[in-house]
Order: sequence, then C-alpha cells, then structure tokens
Amino acid sequence: MQALYDFHIHTTYLKCANETMTIPAILERCASLGLKTIAITDHFNRPDVMDLHLQIKEDLRQAQSDLEIYFGVEVNVISSETGEVSINADLVEQAGFEVVIGGVHSSYHEKPDKRSIIDLQQRLMLQVIANPLIDVLVHPWWFNRLEMGPGGATEWLRDMSEIPDDYAVELGEAAVAHNTAIEANWTAVWGNGAYTDEFKEDYKQYFKRIASTGAKISMSTDAHHIDSLDGIHTLAKVLDEIGLPPQQLWRPEPRG
Ligand SMILES: [Zn+2]
Ligand SMILES: [Zn+2]
Repeated sequence: MQALYDFHIHTTYLKCANETMTIPAILERCASLGLKTIAITDHFNRPDVMDLHLQIKEDLRQAQSDLEIYFGVEVNVISSETGEVSINADLVEQAGFEVVIGGVHSSYHEKPDKRSIIDLQQRLMLQVIANPLIDVLVHPWWFNRLEMGPGGATEWLRDMSEIPDDYAVELGEAAVAHNTAIEANWTAVWGNGAYTDEFKEDYKQYFKRIASTGAKISMSTDAHHIDSLDGIHTLAKVLDEIGLPPQQLWRPEPRG
C-alpha cells in the first residue's frame, strides 16, 4: 500500500474547478480519504490572477485541518520554442508558492503529424524538467478532448506504440538529474474516458520505465470536482501494480 498524497488540486477560486471545490470542502474530503499531505495548485496563466492566489493562501492559513497543506501553483508552457512557462521567480516569491508544478497543455499542431507531435512533446517536457522553478512535471502525454477527438491532432493516440520506449528513460533520467518529479495524474489520464484501455495499460509500462531510472513520482488527482478527489485510492492501486517503491513517491522539499 502506497502512502496517500495529492499534490495537484484545483479550487473554485479561479473558476477552473467547479463550486464544490471550496477550501473547507477539499480539506474535509482529503482527510476522510486518509490523505496526510496535499497541495492546492491552481493555474497561473496570467499575472492578474495573483490576488485570487493570495486569497487561497489566506484561506488555507485560516483553515482548521490536521492535514499538512502546501500552497502551490500549476503553470503552463507558453512557448513551444523555448519551453518557457507562465510564471517567473519573482512571481513565485511574491505569492509565496511552496510547490510549483507545470507542463505542456497543447500539441501545438492543428493536423495529425505523429512524429513531429511526439518529438515536440518530449522536448518541451525535458525543458520543463530542466526549469529550476518547476518541482513536478505534470501529466505527460495529456491532450485535451478536442485534440483527441475526431479530426484532432492527436486522435491517433489510441495506445503508446508510436512513442519510443527510450523516451520514458530519457525523461526519468532528466528528472533525476534536475531533481524534478514526474506526475502520475488520475483525472488527466487513468481516470479520463478520452483515453483507451490500451493507452492506460501502456501508460503503466511507461511509468514503470520512468521509475526504473530512480525518478520521483508525484501522486495527484488534478481534481476539478470534489468527487474526483476519491480517485487517489485507485491511483494508489495503479502505482502498487507498477511496483513503485514507496521511497520513490515525491514529497515537497522546503524551498530555498
Ligand atoms: Zn494541467
Ligand atoms: Zn491541473
């Protein structure tokens, strides 16, 4: 049995998650699920959301809970050239974010072009991993429903056979070298109906290969609805199945 952590949770503050995701409701559900440590990680795609994040921080400070809670943020890649993300060191400092997670949120393609899409995703993920601001690379190989739907740039992604096996090892080795964790995400992939069962099976093998490098894996639900938090138990079973050693589960380190 894995320890239970959830280091990727959205709230209602930025309206990305729905109205069920208030701070008190999240903390209560996480405690009842047996979680001990969590991170709240809303998006930071524009500087004008700073005030909302500071409100989250204040409400977390006032919350009554025995949970160990980190005030975090999720950022996006904003340049497919450089892999630059939507936050900088000054903003992290200004907000006092304790955990910064981030990753790619687009295929950057309009038409299916397997080789080019796969190689670009891999390069951008490596750039995110190498970014000293980033603690966790989020949801590798996640694409939105429009991209995965009919006519979408990644509609061919029915399994992982097109993705070279050594890409997993390359990602894991980079994660070790840069002390960045790689996220096992419930809502984005294993709990996502847009992915096939074949893909989800392949994704287990993919994580097995990543784990074989010694890379740390971050558990997350990426919940946008209160019931999605429950997925953490199924995710823990998946990680058990993969044989992930408990010491390879990532936990935040004090920043500094
Ligand atoms: Zn995301
Ligand atoms: Zn997210």
